[in-house]
Amino acid sequence: MYDALTTRYTFPCPARGETRVRLSAFRALDRLPGADHPAVFHVLFDCPCGDEHPGLVSDAELDWAPLGLTEERFLNLMTSRFQEAAEEMADLAVRRILAGEWPWSFYCYPESRPRPVFPSSFFLLAPGDGSIGLAVRCPACSRISVNLVSPEHVDLPFHNDREVGVVRHVLDGDAEGMVEEFRGELESGRFDARRLDLD
Ligand SMILES: [Zn+2]
Ligand SMILES: [Zn+2]
Repeated sequence: MYDALTTRYTFPCPARGETRVRLSAFRALDRLPGADHPAVFHVLFDCPCGDEHPGLVSDAELDWAPLGLTEERFLNLMTSRFQEAAEEMADLAVRRILAGEWPWSFYCYPESRPRPVFPSSFFLLAPGDGSIGLAVRCPACSRISVNLVSPEHVDLPFHNDREVGVVRHVLDGDAEGMVEEFRGELESGRFDARRLDLD
């Protein structure tokens, strides 16, 4: 489902049968009620065929697979050399996290500070002019901030933009209202620049 070597998720596509997209092609993530282990997310993504499709991903695929920390499933058909590479990658990810580096981060507007985060806290994404508008539900304060980031900031673990755009507004209200609010804020172009250094 997620391939760490190409950093892409595989989903069914009604036009092509199967399609592969990066996390930055996701448009909305919605955690399904119930299942906890694993938690399952209903996602919408922009497909290379030109349409938006729904898909399902687990929290492990969102948060751990990009770090190489995944079930052995996708290694089954590969050689032991690939298995070693995946283990090394996971090892390295763990060492970097222990050393205080975080694979993903965002700027929490209501708390006025950068925070470490996992992609399962991403909520809405919108492509802009070479950048991605990203709504994140803060794992610490539960409020939703909107950042303007590079696609790499989303797609590549440990690639944190040094500086991100931050909307001076917290998204609240119901799910539908928030999508409208999110679009409105991105169109307004009112962003402050904030540094993402976590120390
Ligand atoms: Zn498609
Ligand atoms: Zn917060």
